[in-house]
This record gives sequence, structure tokens and C-alpha cells, in this order.
Amino acid sequence: MISMINLLRKALVPLLAAGVIVATISCQVPIGPRPMPPYQGGPVVQPRPPHQIPVSLPPGPTQPIPPPQPNPQQTAQVQFLSMVPLLIGADGITVRGSDRPLMPPYVNSLIKMPFPSRVAYRDVRVQFQPVQAFRNTPVRWQFKALGGKLRGSLPGGTPILSTPPGSRIPFNRLDANATTLVRISLPPIGLNRGQLSVTSIADSRVGSALEMVVPAVVVIDPGHGGSSNLAGSSFNNARSPSGVLEKTLALDYGRNLAQAVSQTFYSRGLPVQVALTRDRDINVTGRNRATLAKNLRADTFVTVHFNGFNGQARGTLQVQRNAAGGNVNLAEDNRLANRIVDSVVGAFKRFDPGAKKRNPVVLSTSVSNDKSLGNSAGHHPIRHAYLEMEFIDNPAVDHLLNGPYKHQVRSTTVVAMAQAIYDDIVNHRG
Ligand SMILES: [Zn+2]
Repeated sequence: MISMINLLRKALVPLLAAGVIVATISCQVPIGPRPMPPYQGGPVVQPRPPHQIPVSLPPGPTQPIPPPQPNPQQTAQVQFLSMVPLLIGADGITVRGSDRPLMPPYVNSLIKMPFPSRVAYRDVRVQFQPVQAFRNTPVRWQFKALGGKLRGSLPGGTPILSTPPGSRIPFNRLDANATTLVRISLPPIGLNRGQLSVTSIADSRVGSALEMVVPAVVVIDPGHGGSSNLAGSSFNNARSPSGVLEKTLALDYGRNLAQAVSQTFYSRGLPVQVALTRDRDINVTGRNRATLAKNLRADTFVTVHFNGFNGQARGTLQVQRNAAGGNVNLAEDNRLANRIVDSVVGAFKRFDPGAKKRNPVVLSTSVSNDKSLGNSAGHHPIRHAYLEMEFIDNPAVDHLLNGPYKHQVRSTTVVAMAQAIYDDIVNHRG
């Protein structure tokens, strides 16, 4: 079992040791009772009651002194007892209570194994009650994908369900305590989701189900930073007429975007991990930014820059690494980038009619290098969008982004961007 702590250490320590990167997991999979997702039309999902069916217990042996009689109408039920491993929080410490399974309508988070493993998994323990009625009886585990088919595939031979964990057969006999354990493994694509159910073979009326989901992982990459130029990352490029530096605005938007992404997922009751390649005024090499996204097993990697040119140019655009530059998943990157560019333009337009979308600029930046991202032709788990948000050397843009409405503009924009990122993950067909 590979712990998430080790995994995060492996991901971060080399970079920290190199003295060039600080990554902050700004939030983690929320565990424990969460607020209901807001009502958004359609039927309201009510929490289901625990599955309870009356059963008759087998008669005890005839004996002169009767033992205490079990209640023959004692209800049969299934209780999900625990899940391992525990989730890891923003501080790298295990999340207390994350071993407790949550019943529908809540969903339980799986854990992505380290790169390049293609599995997200969790082991779930269940007990049938009353114990004396079900001990040593057989049960059947089943899995049903929710929200369409499962996306991606598991490594050859890996079953979705295995009992005991690691075996090949989704079938088990309860032990003397009427418990058993199943491992659920799904392709590690953010928001792959399904229902895990278990039923008594002796009495098919007795069963229960849990919902499981692969957490989405989003890495936000504010461009530039610090005071020295590094490989693939100068410390600053553009500057606004009012004196705001591109690196400062990129960090400001990046931090706020990270929060907006968390909020967008949590408001739907869905787990997400959000990380920043930098959360303060330091620079990071282009390659280390990409490597962080790889090591955190990101679904989505979003690089945020602001542009500068001749003081007059306007518009929002994507910096695109094309197929000739070695981009193995250009179409996926373009879909993500277009969604985000459109969301930025739409948000800016609410405050400034001069906002517009520009054509992509083709450039092979090191932050978009698929080898650093861990993408290959046969397996490309990360989609990258590299944005130039606007030309901040234009006085109208300076007024838009740094003027009296700057907070409203920023919050409107990052909320729209977060929605675009969510839409891309939900609709991705990897
Ligand atoms: Zn830049």
C-alpha cells in the first residue's frame, strides 16, 4: 500500500531540495458530512434509508436451558464499516474520519496511485448484520458506472472489484464476523464515478451500495515570479501603465482561481485536489512546473500569464504547443484552452466591451512539454492550457484589471474559469 504522504513527499521533496519550487495543495478532498449540493432543478435526491429487511433467524439447537432468544424480527442490514487507506489533507497529514464510508447522496473519494500507475483505488470493509445470521455465507459484489460509461481503462488484468484485494475474482464469503473486504479500482480519470454494491447470495433482499468517485486533480500555474530568470521562466515580462507586474497579477489570479475551482467542485459534493506551482513571489523553472503536475497526477494543468505588446493590442489567447512541437494530445489541450479562453472573454466582456478572443500563438514552451508532463502518445492523462489573459500594457486593460472594479472583475473571471475547468473534466472522454 503506498501512502499518499510518501507519494506527496516523492513528488515534492526533489523539487524542494532543488530549492526552486514550493507547491501548496490548497485544498483536499473533503471528508465527513458535507452540506447538501445546492438544488439545481430536477428531482431532489433524498438520502436513502439504511437497507433493512426483517429476517427469521435459524432455530437454535434443542436444549434444556434455552439461551437468550434473539428477536426473530431483528432486521437484517448491511453496514459499510471502513475504507483504507486514509485520505491525506492539505498539510500532508491523514484526514481524520476519512476511513468512514459516507452513504448516498454523498460520494466517497478513491485515491490515485502514483504516476505512472493507471489505477485509483480504495479497500472497503462491510459487515452483514445480524452477524449470527450471515456469518460464513457468500455475498456478491457489483459495480455500476454512474454518469455514463467509465472513461479510460485499467491496466491489463486489473479487475474493477477484487476480493480479497489483489485477487481476480469479485466474489467472497463472509468471515465468522460476517465481514468481508473488497478493493475497488477505477481508471484514474477525474470524476470517474460509480456505485459499489454488495448483496447476500443467501438472501438477495439484503444488500447495500456506496458511491465512489476518482477525485479531480487541478494544478494552477501562475507564470513568472521572483527576481531571477530561470530555464523556461523569466521572472517577469509585462507591466501595466499603473505599474502592476505580470508576475503579481498572475499569482493573484492563480490563487483566486485555485479557490474558485475548489468551490466549484465542493458545491456539487465532488472531491478535488487543487495545487499551485507557486503560492508566493518566487520563480520556478518551466520543467519543474510541468513535473509537479505530473507527480500530482493532474487531470488539468492551467498556466496563467498576462500579455504585453505595443500598448494597444487587446484580447485573450492560448499559447499552443502544436503537434509539430511534440504535443501528443493537441485536440484535448485545445478543447480545454478554448473553454477557458471563452470563459475569460465572457467574464471580461461583462465589464469591458473591448474584451475579445484572439487566435492561438504557437510556441513550444518548456512548461507545455509532454515528456515533462508524463504524456505519451499511448497515455496522456494531463491536459494543459496556457493562457495569456489580456494585454496589461494597454491602458483600458489596466483599468479593467487594476481599476476600481478589479475585485469584481477578478472574482467573476475566476468563477467562470473554474466552471470551464469543471466542464472539461466532466466531459473528458479519455
Ligand atoms: Zn508571461
